[in-house]
Amino acid sequence: MSRIQNLKHTHPPSTGRNSKKSAKKFAPGGHKNLKSQRADEVAETAAPERLCGVLVLNHNFEPLNICSIQRGITLLMLEKAEVLRFSDQTVRSAEDEHLVPSVLRLHETVKRPLPQLKISRKSVLARDGYTCVYCGSRESLTLDHVFPRHRGGETTWENVVCSCLKCNNKKGARTPSECGMRLPHPPRKPRYVPYISFPRFVSAVRRSEWREFLEGFGKGLEQW
Ligand SMILES: [Zn+2]
Repeated sequence: MSRIQNLKHTHPPSTGRNSKKSAKKFAPGGHKNLKSQRADEVAETAAPERLCGVLVLNHNFEPLNICSIQRGITLLMLEKAEVLRFSDQTVRSAEDEHLVPSVLRLHETVKRPLPQLKISRKSVLARDGYTCVYCGSRESLTLDHVFPRHRGGETTWENVVCSCLKCNNKKGARTPSECGMRLPHPPRKPRYVPYISFPRFVSAVRRSEWREFLEGFGKGLEQW
């Protein structure tokens, strides 16, 4: 049941498709050094991360990790997990072709310390859906201190939002109400702190084949 499904005899020997080579490598994610990035000054189009790999759920179905396909297959080979969903990818071993797991559930509960959710540029952009909270643009995104830093505004979940450069420049050192701009909701710290990094969790919820396993945990993420 938990074994990788063998497709050797169910697929025609050669379908003419590009041979599915080895499993995709886990994308390193392009982490950037955030040290030099100052809120309100860095602008770039920040698309949500495109996730590949295997979603790993704890025995109680809580999302634990997104691992490489190779690692996911290893978990199956070691009989440490069961497959809840296969992807439409396949991988070839020496003799066989296998369906690639997309969602795994561990047979045993893994206990981990609760993660901390620190504010970061990536996390704020993810919380706000990579969308300017003032105008809805997805271009040239930066961070904005709702109550300006120059006037004592702090870098907190409750005071930093995702803004496009245009709105950021328009707002300048004023509050939204001082310049006729409007926040759709007061910003706040996400309620759910995933084991997966927050931006990756937000991206994972958007992956349609994973959504049903994650959205119950991510309630409230879409309030913005
Ligand atoms: Zn804007």
